[in-house]
Amino acid sequence: MRVGIGHDTHRLESGRPLWIGGVQVPSDRGAVGHSDADVLLHAVTDALLGSGGLGDIGQWFPDTDPQYAGADSSRFVEIARDELAGLGLAVVNLDVIVFAESPRLSGFASAIRERLATLLETDIDRINFKAKTGEGVGPVGRGEAIEATAAVLVDGHGADREASETT
Ligand SMILES: [Zn+2]
Repeated sequence: MRVGIGHDTHRLESGRPLWIGGVQVPSDRGAVGHSDADVLLHAVTDALLGSGGLGDIGQWFPDTDPQYAGADSSRFVEIARDELAGLGLAVVNLDVIVFAESPRLSGFASAIRERLATLLETDIDRINFKAKTGEGVGPVGRGEAIEATAAVLVDGHGADREASETT
């Protein structure tokens, strides 16, 4: 078994869409970034890459690369997932936290968990979602930024099974 963690921060600005975990959340402010600025998918991508010892999202998907301008960050998660699969690793469970003063995200938890489960090709009961505010202090609390943290556990049973099937 291997564990990975990821963390990401994006600035918030009015008049932009807000994507969280592959779900568009109605908000008067959205995240600023080179891609679709999905803070949660970026944290999840980093956690996945970390679990496989594969570096970080900036190495894989540089924000200076024009091909990632406005990109759907779901792609980053899928590529990281496939790289792990190539190492014989599959997700055991994923736990995430999104830090945002507004909007309140509890109503989107099911949709976000479902989207993450689909992207990771796993069951929704292996995905846990938590939302927290910034308690009115700091960049998150002032509504200037959104942050996300993700922790993932992966295991190599897939590789073991494959190996034993072929021998
Ligand atoms: Zn990001």
